Amino acid sequence: MVQLKKKLSGKMRLKYTPPYAGAGDMPEPDMFVLTSAGQRIPAHSKILASASVVLESIIERPEKHRSTERKITISGVPYDAVHVFLQFLYFNKCSDEHMESYGIHLLALSHVYSVQQLKQICTRGLAKRLSVENVVDVLQLARLCNAPDLYLKCMRLVSDKYKAVEETEAWRFLQEHDPYLELEILQFIDETESRKKKTRRHREEQSLYMQLSEAMDCLEHICSEGCTSVGPCDMDPNEHKGPCSKFSTCQGIQLLIKHFGACKKRVNGGCSRCSRMWQLFKLHSSICDQTDECRVPLCRQFKLKTQQDRRGNDPRWRLLVKKVISARTISSLSLPKRKREDESRIVLQPHGSRRSIRV
Ligand SMILES: [Zn+2]
Ligand SMILES: [Zn+2]
Ligand SMILES: [Zn+2]
Repeated sequence: MVQLKKKLSGKMRLKYTPPYAGAGDMPEPDMFVLTSAGQRIPAHSKILASASVVLESIIERPEKHRSTERKITISGVPYDAVHVFLQFLYFNKCSDEHMESYGIHLLALSHVYSVQQLKQICTRGLAKRLSVENVVDVLQLARLCNAPDLYLKCMRLVSDKYKAVEETEAWRFLQEHDPYLELEILQFIDETESRKKKTRRHREEQSLYMQLSEAMDCLEHICSEGCTSVGPCDMDPNEHKGPCSKFSTCQGIQLLIKHFGACKKRVNGGCSRCSRMWQLFKLHSSICDQTDECRVPLCRQFKLKTQQDRRGNDPRWRLLVKKVISARTISSLSLPKRKREDESRIVLQPHGSRRSIRV
């Protein structure tokens, strides 16, 4: 007998064992659950009523023509799914194998009969098993059963694999029978796309502000400490040899400063490199909060000009300054503690009075 049981497949076993098999000594079942195909599954009304308020109200509803036999009908799903559902009501358990085979039916049953714990298990189980082939069916069910987490996961999968989903039979069926859901999905894809574009744009902007913020730090580093070939006049030019270890942009900015000092065309002559350096000096001046001690060239001149010139209050420039300041704050906060301490030590060093730089 034991051997025969082992030989029977899981599905076959369901047909021959009551859902409460293995629960130990149980009283005689006092009711039947009828399935769509008319099969009868013996059950205990007290267990079913305590597991589901919906079943409780059905069980306790007075019947018009009360027969000697108590029964309720669970239709619309296969016999095996009803059996597994009843097993859950007895044991609070659902195996992976059963979830694999009846997950969709169990979600529907748990929703209709308000068995929240099973509904959560099904939501997670189905989300784990989502595929291009089943996503449209699961999506429809998640919508019907008010399972927002599962619904969102389905939407994301359809959105990510739209080309493949479009080829499935389920999608074609949906197009013919549920144009509203099709519209809902297409709108979701559209919104996801524009959200992605917005995020990408924001990231690009942030990276630009970060670069500018680093350029500002680098500029102060060159003008106050001096680096490889550019530095303050009162510093020994031979003191710093080799490539800069602090900023990857240092070499480039030094070249730009050198060019700015030697160029014949200059900003007014239309030199783009001079113009870039000019903008960097101007940006420094806009974010610089030092007064007389600042050693960055043109800092004071730009500050005076901004005070006199109302056009210096260009809102776009102000926005740029604000963004660079916040990028600077973010990058200083994300630095490791030790490095921050090192940096503050540098800032606290007394500055000389000379503002000119050695090139
Ligand atoms: Zn450097
Ligand atoms: Zn130039
Ligand atoms: Zn300054």
